[in-house]
Amino acid sequence: MIKHDISKYKHIWVFVEHENGEVARVSFELLTKARELAKDLDCEVHAFTVGDKVEQFKDEVFKYGAKKFFIIEDPILKDYMTEPYRDSIVYLIEKYKPEVVLIGATTLGRDLAGTIATVLQTGLTADTTALDIDPKTKNLLMTRPTFGGNLMATIFCPDNRPQMSTSRPGVYKAIEEPVKGEVIKEKFEFDKAKYTKKILEKIIEEGEKVNLGFYDIIVSGGFGMGSKENMKFVQELADVLGGTWAASRKAVQAGWAPQTRQVGQTGQTVHPKIYIACGISGAIQHVAGMKSSDVIIAINKDPEAPIFELATYGIVGDVLEVLPKMTKMFKEK
Ligand code: FAD
Repeated sequence: MIKHDISKYKHIWVFVEHENGEVARVSFELLTKARELAKDLDCEVHAFTVGDKVEQFKDEVFKYGAKKFFIIEDPILKDYMTEPYRDSIVYLIEKYKPEVVLIGATTLGRDLAGTIATVLQTGLTADTTALDIDPKTKNLLMTRPTFGGNLMATIFCPDNRPQMSTSRPGVYKAIEEPVKGEVIKEKFEFDKAKYTKKILEKIIEEGEKVNLGFYDIIVSGGFGMGSKENMKFVQELADVLGGTWAASRKAVQAGWAPQTRQVGQTGQTVHPKIYIACGISGAIQHVAGMKSSDVIIAINKDPEAPIFELATYGIVGDVLEVLPKMTKMFKEK
């Protein structure tokens, strides 16, 4: 890998991921996190994206504190394709030299970040769950699970810039802090003959897809629910509270819930206002995905269950008795 003159790089850039005219929530989460990092780096937070019509996102981006919004608009960028996205973004990064580039660890973000880092000859830490600035060296410290989730590794990139990370959705809260930002429009001359791939048809995958991060209330069922049929008690309480339902890995592995609803280290990370853990022991890998919830309510028949150490409120009892009672009570309210 080549060595860059790192003194030439400044500011934190956050990629604004979008699809069908909507910005992915992870972009706002990363803008919020970037504001915190920028204080330690004494720099600004900027957003960037490319696409067919992307200037429309400026108000949302400025609402989350980006002082500048770098964009390239071109019809060739209408649908996501790795190569034209890569080339136009590499152009922006080489021109403006951000010190840090943060991208959501979504399907698109993972594909894009890898290819950009390769062209730029810089380091990328994929799928991070924590970002900090080293107070001494001012390097970005990027932490991610490793060895199948059994260890956490903190990685940094001392000699190359930008320092790049894809970060898991749902790890940081998206908090507004509006600023008066500036849009910087750039032009990129695409060598259209180079791009031989075409999208012929888009097939939307069947089956349940749920972004748990969108919900303020999550009712989550564990192995203590006893059976797939009993998961209906979890779903009923979630419905009556206007939230959604989720599950532990053991419940998922038992076939009681789809993997798309799993919370934890190998599932989704959530921080709802209320997380109700039903028949969940509180294993470290589960806790990793929900510990930053504002209020945690645990229902478990074992008073020694580790989940009670974390819980704001604990109910020692049988979930099959407690849940129907709670649902009835909230229905009557
Ligand atoms: P259990 O540990 O079996 O706990 C069931 C609980 O229900 C017990 O506390 C019991 O007292 C209680 N209970 C039983 N019956 C009742 C009843 N009738 N009423 C009330 N309470 C009752 N786990 C995840 O959840 N998410 C992950 O992302 C994840 N990733 C992992 C990654 C790795 C690499 C590894 C090794 C493990 C991972 N796990 C994950 C698994 C994790 O270690 C635990 O095995 C799992 O979280 C346990 O699920 P549970 O709490 O539902 O089941």
